[in-house]
Amino acid sequence: MSPDSMNVEQRQWVDFGKRSGLKCHRVSIGAMRLPDDEDEAARLMRQAIDAGMIYIDTSRGYGASEIKVGKSLKEGYREKVILSTKWSPWNQKVEETDDASAACTYKRLVESMERLDVEHLDFYQVWSINSYEQYRQVIAKGGMLDGIRRAVDEGLVGHMGFTTHDTPENVSNYLDETDWCEAILFTYNILNQKYQEVIAKAHEKGIATIVMNPLGGGLLAENSPVIRNAIGRDDVVALAHRYLAGDPNVDTILCGISKPSDITGTLENFAKPPLTAEERKTLEKLTDLLSKENMGFCTRCNYCMPCPNGLDIPGILHVVYLERLLECPKVAGDLYKWVANPDKRTRATDCTECGECEDKCTQKLSIMEEMKYAAGKFDEAE
Ligand code: SF4
Ligand code: SF4
Repeated sequence: MSPDSMNVEQRQWVDFGKRSGLKCHRVSIGAMRLPDDEDEAARLMRQAIDAGMIYIDTSRGYGASEIKVGKSLKEGYREKVILSTKWSPWNQKVEETDDASAACTYKRLVESMERLDVEHLDFYQVWSINSYEQYRQVIAKGGMLDGIRRAVDEGLVGHMGFTTHDTPENVSNYLDETDWCEAILFTYNILNQKYQEVIAKAHEKGIATIVMNPLGGGLLAENSPVIRNAIGRDDVVALAHRYLAGDPNVDTILCGISKPSDITGTLENFAKPPLTAEERKTLEKLTDLLSKENMGFCTRCNYCMPCPNGLDIPGILHVVYLERLLECPKVAGDLYKWVANPDKRTRATDCTECGECEDKCTQKLSIMEEMKYAAGKFDEAE
C-alpha cells in the first residue's frame, strides 16, 4: 500500500523494520538539542512520547542528552519507548586510548546505560560508519560489533544498527552482508536524496530506516527566498515533511526537539496528505536546480586539498554556498564555527593567497576571492 492511499492512522504507525518486530510512529525523537534545563527537557520529552514519538535517538556524544533522556524516562515512561544510543571512537574519544575494540565498545555501552539510568537498551548503534576502513574495524573479530554482541547476549541490548555518512555505494555493499543490522540512520531531505535507493534497499531487507536532518540541519526552516522561489511555495517545512512522509521506504524521521512547537508542527505536517510519487519527482527536479553542480559551485571533490595553511577549503566554500547562494545566513554562521578554528588558524582570514588551490580546482573557482568573502562575512563579524 502506498502512503497516499492510507488513512492518517495507518500512515502514522509502521513496522520499525521487519527484522526488529517493533512498531514505531513515523516521527521520532532526536534528542541532540534538548533544552539546557533538565526539567524543561523532561517535560518536552514526555510531550513527544505522549504524542506517539516513541523511538528516541541519543548518543554518548550529545553533551548531557543521555542524562536528560534518562530523567525523562522515569515514572513509567521507559516502558513506552524504543530507546537507542550510539558511540564510536572516531566520533568521540572519551579517553585518548579509546579504540574500535569489543572491550572499549562494551565499556562505553555500559557507561551509556548508567548515564541513561536504564537496565536495558532497545538499540545500540555504531555511530557513523563513514568509510570502508571503519566498517572493517566494526565487523573485525574482536571489534565493535563483538562488544555490542556481548551486551546482546547478556540481555543488556535488544537490537543493533549503525548510522552513516558513507558513500551510497559502500552502504549498499554493507547491506549485502550485515545480517546483524536492524536499523540504519541516514540523511535524507528535499535537498539531499543521495541515499534514496539505499534506503529502499535497506527497507526491502527489513532494516528499520531512520532519517536524520529531514530539514537539512535547519536549512529548510530558515525561510530562504531562494529555496521558496525554486520550489514555488512558501510552506517549505511542511513540504519537506510531506515529501519524506510520501516515501514508503522511510520508516521514521528524527525530529530534533528543543521546543514544544517542534513536536506539534512536525506531527501536524505528518498528518497532512503525503506527497504522491509524482509530486515527489516534480519537487526533486525543482530542488535539483539548487544543487552545487547546477549552480556551478564547489562540489566538494577535494582536489584542491590539502591547503598548506590547514584551511578546510571545501568546508568554507560550503558555508559560502549556504550563506550567499541559498541565502541561509544563520545555518551558515553556525556551521562556520565548526569548520574554521581560530586557535588552529584555519579561518578564511588565515588564507595567505598562495594560489595553490586555484590551480587544482576542478570548477575553476576563484577560491582566494571566496576566502575573502567568507572572512568578511564570518571572521570580521566576530
Ligand atoms: S590560496 Fe588560501 S585557501 Fe588556497 S591553498 Fe593557499 S592558503 Fe589555502
Ligand atoms: S577543487 Fe574546487 S570544486 Fe573541488 S573541493 Fe576544491 S574548491 Fe571545491
